[in-house]
Amino acid sequence: MEPAGAPPHGCAPAREAEEPPGSPALPAEEPQDGQPAGAPPGQGALPSAAGPERGPPGRAARGRGRRAPGRRGGEDGGRAGRRPRVTVDSSKAKTSLEALKISLRQLRWKEFPFGRRLPCDIYWHGVSFHDNDIFSGQVNKFPGMTEMVRKITLSRAVRTMQDLFPLEYNFYPRSWILPEEFPLFVTEVRMMKDSDPSWKPTFIVKPDGGCQGDGIYLIKDPSDIRLMGSTQSRPAVVQEYICKPLLVDKLKFDIRLYVLLKSLEPLEIYIAKDGLSRFCTEPYQEPTLKNLHQVFMHLTNYSLNVHSGNFIHSDSVNTGSKRTFSSILCRLSSRGADVKKLWSDIISLVIKTIIALTPELKVYYQSDIPAGKPGPTCFQILGFDILLMKNLKPMLLEVNANPSMRIEHEQELSPGVFENVPSPVDEEVKVAVIRDTLRLVDPQKKKRKDIQCQALEEVGEAKEKLLDVGPAGDAPPSPEAHLPSLCLKQVFPKYAKQFNYLRLVDRVAALFIRFLGVKGTTKLGPTGFRTFIRNCKLSNSNFSMASVDILYIDITRRWNSMGIDHKESGPFLVCKTCCCLQRSIEDRSQWNLQLNSSVRRYVHVRVADCRLSCRLFT
Ligand code: ADP
Repeated sequence: MEPAGAPPHGCAPAREAEEPPGSPALPAEEPQDGQPAGAPPGQGALPSAAGPERGPPGRAARGRGRRAPGRRGGEDGGRAGRRPRVTVDSSKAKTSLEALKISLRQLRWKEFPFGRRLPCDIYWHGVSFHDNDIFSGQVNKFPGMTEMVRKITLSRAVRTMQDLFPLEYNFYPRSWILPEEFPLFVTEVRMMKDSDPSWKPTFIVKPDGGCQGDGIYLIKDPSDIRLMGSTQSRPAVVQEYICKPLLVDKLKFDIRLYVLLKSLEPLEIYIAKDGLSRFCTEPYQEPTLKNLHQVFMHLTNYSLNVHSGNFIHSDSVNTGSKRTFSSILCRLSSRGADVKKLWSDIISLVIKTIIALTPELKVYYQSDIPAGKPGPTCFQILGFDILLMKNLKPMLLEVNANPSMRIEHEQELSPGVFENVPSPVDEEVKVAVIRDTLRLVDPQKKKRKDIQCQALEEVGEAKEKLLDVGPAGDAPPSPEAHLPSLCLKQVFPKYAKQFNYLRLVDRVAALFIRFLGVKGTTKLGPTGFRTFIRNCKLSNSNFSMASVDILYIDITRRWNSMGIDHKESGPFLVCKTCCCLQRSIEDRSQWNLQLNSSVRRYVHVRVADCRLSCRLFT
């Protein structure tokens, strides 16, 4: 069931922050640490940063990169190899600009730093899909992604999957949404304590939409939650605190992994072989009332720890407060840890999390770029923050839609005087991720393939002549010949067979989109629901339109009790409807019978094990 594979070899960890939406330039969490330790399943070790095959990392890369574009070429690239160069609009790249520029130089693509009157092939946005009005090409953001990975939305999406597949989604700490689930939180904690008096939990409260550790605090008891004052108006997630994390050098650390969502339909996911490990700067102790407030001990955020006197900026990828993940894997491996299993668990976690996000993302996508409307295609680099437990189980902390791609950090030259200095660990990891993302979405690749196929056919016709010409050495060199092997490894559809059964809500979303025709809207009213039922041919003499209306009211009631803001509620409908439908069915045995027979055509409901399995379009 688990994706096999050898972990990437890398270095030290570091933690990245999300670039706050709408932020002008910096604020995202500072550059993160090192690279991931092993190569992902089936991969070899990551080439060393300094290794010759790695291509141009670091300063050397910049030097080399600068010369490269000097080849011939006008605005669209030149005649070199008679190949037009890929054009990239970097005018909205914000803090990822420096890493993007280096990547483009390495690729010898054409950058438009101030935008362009003509369309570009690729638009690189620092924050959101909506940074620019784009009608063609590709953009590095999906509509709705920022909303989907906010702490509350992510917790809801994962919980939907936990309801359906509890064992498969046990990599996310138990969470409650504040303020509406505060009474539930209190009750559940009391019940758990009653049933196990030795349980002495700690909880972590995280404001929704926060980043870089902003507003986060630890508590020992639900009554310690600061529901009053400014936080009352600030929705948050309260989560079980993982008290026994894996320590390295007695320090807590987390992992920032880069994941490329290359396409939503069909689903295509890549994981970077290396990432960053971000370290706390005070030796870890399990939480007690005395140390709960010690952020340098409990929170791994770079943006916080960089202010500790103990923070170590290092030029090495396997020392200091930010290292490559590969360096951690190497270290764990030398201690005899099963890093292959760890890597495989991480891949599962990433795939399952994205499967939890895709249903609503598809609704956002359909709403922003309905079929037939001119629009760009999308891809996106996501930052997965993962904590390893002492037993090496990876736990998801959060997903960042705008992981910091900064490759510099601030250094205080003299009191109060700061300068940006390059961060080798960040540059090593992030430039490779951006460059290889671009290679994977390269719009010329397909064209080149088509041309090669055509050429092969011609070659076939002139076979004898070709034999005279000699071996393949005469073929034009690949434009990627000077680049290292890709640091991004495909995990989906590669491991699709193991995970497709989890794509239940995804199929329900597809059903909704298909039959409801979500165009420019994400809302479903009672009439739309009737249309949906009619289109799916779900109504019959047992399941009348009056029952449909009652079901709609019941679903809406449940949906509203989840405290979802009406203005935002549309995109949630797909998942929530599925969930509420299931609960309605469970609660009402009468409906259970009616629906079970009516819906079977599209959705086979197995209430007994609390799962819905879809047989859509089969
Ligand atoms: P932010 O977006 O503000 O960085 P995170 O969810 O990433 O918020 O949490 C910040 C830090 O708090 C994490 O990097 C991690 O060190 C710690 N943390 C978060 N959730 C947990 C948890 N459930 N258990 C233990 N530590 C956690």
